[in-house]
Amino acid sequence: MMTVSVDAELCLGSEQCARAVPAVFTFDDVVGLVGADPTAQVLVAPTAEESVRRASFNCPAAAIYIEDHR
Ligand code: SF4
Repeated sequence: MMTVSVDAELCLGSEQCARAVPAVFTFDDVVGLVGADPTAQVLVAPTAEESVRRASFNCPAAAIYIEDHR
């Protein structure tokens, strides 16, 4: 099981992750950031795990944290 969270303090609002994996990353138009709630831990569906890993790797702010609970 994988969970993912975004550090809103670090997020630059590039929207890259939201465009790449919209089922997991939601862009908050009001705040201008992804994952405006820094405490939010989102459970990732097994089929989306690889995309989320790639999004984390490609995040220009290194703001995407993955926890693998296996
Ligand atoms: S890719 Fe990184 S910097 Fe860009 S919106 Fe997502 S979390 Fe924020």
